[in-house]
Amino acid sequence: MNAQLPTSIVGSLPKPAWLAEPEKLWAPWRLQGEELVEGQRDALSLSAAEQALAGLDIISDGEQTRQHFVTTFVESLGGVDFERRETVRIRDRYDASVPSVVGAVSRERSVFAEDAKTLRAQTDRPIKWALPGPMTMIDTLYDRHYGSREKLATEFAKILNEEARELEAAGVDIIQFDEPAFNVFFDDVKDWGVSVLEQAAEGLRCETAVHICFGYGIKANNDWKATLGDQWRQYEQSFPLLQESAIDIVSLECQNSRVPIELIELLRGKKVMVGAIDVAGADIETPETVADTLRGVLRFVDPDKLYPSTNCGMAPLPRQVARAKMVALAAGAEIVRGELALTG
Ligand SMILES: [Zn+2]
Repeated sequence: MNAQLPTSIVGSLPKPAWLAEPEKLWAPWRLQGEELVEGQRDALSLSAAEQALAGLDIISDGEQTRQHFVTTFVESLGGVDFERRETVRIRDRYDASVPSVVGAVSRERSVFAEDAKTLRAQTDRPIKWALPGPMTMIDTLYDRHYGSREKLATEFAKILNEEARELEAAGVDIIQFDEPAFNVFFDDVKDWGVSVLEQAAEGLRCETAVHICFGYGIKANNDWKATLGDQWRQYEQSFPLLQESAIDIVSLECQNSRVPIELIELLRGKKVMVGAIDVAGADIETPETVADTLRGVLRFVDPDKLYPSTNCGMAPLPRQVARAKMVALAAGAEIVRGELALTG
């Protein structure tokens, strides 16, 4: 693996058409029972091989065993009733029918440890595993039991911490918590969001990351982004808090984003996983475009702390587009590595 500018995807990749309906979030599975489990593991191995072939340095599972980055985790927990659904507003943006929390939440067994072992066996490169963040989890549920967002998030943090420890034991090198909700609920982020996230990461020896994007390239998110104005300054509030936090890496989007790039200076000292690949469209970046984005970011991030990545998950894209984007990411990072070697 490249010690400098190690590349990786944020999380999801498109699934093969034999496993789930393509280009769709929450796509139903096309297999059942034992066949589904085997199909998911096969897709996971395939996705790891495709990342390695594209030249990525840190390998993920491509979220091939999950229908959705939050619900698949929540489905395996006790205390959540999937029959009792309520319509809630997700991240203040779109309505969705979600399950209810009806009692104390609990985790009977590890959700992803077996999948992580499968991924570990596929590659000698470092591996990264994404889990939903506590604030994003509570935003995807209707709470009938705790009556406090902070209390429920704290309970989820305990569960996530147990899961993260098992993933670490399975050989995971980086555990990433996905917290898109951090761009919406600023008061909560400040009051308890960051400290609850730290509880989820407590005691881990592997590296930890938080991904705080403006969402997948789906219509509801794109419409919302259009209302945010020319400059997305939301990060101005969260970056200083994350800079001071115990989390090692901050993952955010940069390609075609309206985040003023100089805000990244607020994270100085942290490792920054920078999205140099847009996930909202099928246009494939050139390596030179990727290199340009990375060069811009290098004004605010030390070279040894820059991790080139994608803006977000690529699940909704066609497979060949996702593959070509990974190749462009690796090639763009290689250009900048060459330049850094020249300037010493
Ligand atoms: Zn994202």
